[in-house]
Amino acid sequence: MSVKVSLDQVQQSIPEEVVLVAVSKTKPVSAIEEAYDAGHRHFGENRVQELVEKEERLSSDIKWHHIGHLQTNKVKYIASFVHLIHAVDSEKLLQEIDKQAKKHNRIIDILLQVHIAQEESKFGFQWDILSKLISDNNLINYSNVKIRGLMGMATFTHDEDQVRSEFQKLKKYFDHIRRHFNEEFSILSMGMSGDFEIAIEEGSTMVRVGSKIFGTR
Ligand SMILES: *Cc1c(COP(=O)(O)O)cnc(C)c1O
Repeated sequence: MSVKVSLDQVQQSIPEEVVLVAVSKTKPVSAIEEAYDAGHRHFGENRVQELVEKEERLSSDIKWHHIGHLQTNKVKYIASFVHLIHAVDSEKLLQEIDKQAKKHNRIIDILLQVHIAQEESKFGFQWDILSKLISDNNLINYSNVKIRGLMGMATFTHDEDQVRSEFQKLKKYFDHIRRHFNEEFSILSMGMSGDFEIAIEEGSTMVRVGSKIFGTR
């Protein structure tokens, strides 16, 4: 199936107010161009080098999302153009994004990643630690970073009840810490190819969909 057709199919199963980030990692520039020509503008990548190369070759009105684990020493390569960094999971990373954003005279939007899955290997803040950082006001002193919301990944499993309960947990955390921020804290990034329908039912405002649009990797 063409990228355009599968993109249309995914877009049609998503409410208009939910933002679809088309995850183009490992896929060629031509596949992104096909989605771009169909009118799509939000693309997600998880490797900095690949993101930088694609950004250089593609139209400057693309909104580039960095979606996976981000190493502190690589922030400098994307700071001039990145639209949203989804997986901020340490204060050190937040500090570095702030520093690099200052150099470029920008404010960079970010999401805090919360660990909700059972798997050990997934990155993200433990909720206890994050909620303490926030209630102690430790995360709001960064002038060039804007915390726009939360991001999380459910366990990779066919057990839908488990996936649903993990998304419910993240939504609960989101609602709980909103009061520490202003109305710009409004993005809940959850849901991928295998689970975005459940994520949307549980309150997702942004889904990150790769293989369902571009085919398996
Ligand atoms: C790869 C990736 C996705 C998209 O995964 P699909 O299953 O292909 O939709 C979403 N989020 C993150 C963080 C990823 O690394």
